[in-house]
Amino acid sequence: MRRLSRVLVVLAVAILLLVVTGAGDYLAGTAVFYARLAKLYTQTPDSKIAMPLENVTKSRIADTWQAPRGAGRKHEGQDIFAPRGTPILSGTKGYIFRVGENSLGGQTVSVIGSGGRIYYYAHLDRYAPGLEVGNRVTTQTVLGYVGTTGNAQGTPPHLHFGVYTLNGAINPLPLLTDRTAPSVTRNKPAGTRPRGRMVSRRI
Ligand SMILES: [Zn+2]
Repeated sequence: MRRLSRVLVVLAVAILLLVVTGAGDYLAGTAVFYARLAKLYTQTPDSKIAMPLENVTKSRIADTWQAPRGAGRKHEGQDIFAPRGTPILSGTKGYIFRVGENSLGGQTVSVIGSGGRIYYYAHLDRYAPGLEVGNRVTTQTVLGYVGTTGNAQGTPPHLHFGVYTLNGAINPLPLLTDRTAPSVTRNKPAGTRPRGRMVSRRI
């Protein structure tokens, strides 16, 4: 009995330490995030991706999938051109998987979605405020803003958008769908209705 009570005291102290240091919250948060990721892997990947930039239509994207990029490198995504500072919306539901800088992509955000697919947004001028790994996102969530960071320095501002399956990169273009006015306005709070839908002028 005495040994059991000693074990309980040690456990209680350990738990207290975790709570006091905040490590308990961190571990609990991490466990929840991994549980969410595990669930995503069981789901079918999205067959449609909403255009990450609101006022750009699919027809305006010049297909550069697998275009040579020097040194044997090929373009593993699509470039979507827009003025610097244009908000970048998540093309899918999911969770923020990574927020960070690398030499090619500059400031980047990766979102993990159904099927464990990774949606990669690069060359960001800046991140959306408060963006953190583990945040749940929808197609209405702003991830950041169009820029020229990484190897896009000196080029017209654009979003580099990549889609990575468990077997590697795939062409995002066939999956991209134009945002239409109803889907954009449906989940938006009043007063933030976007103006000037280019979509409505298409034939
Ligand atoms: Zn690119």
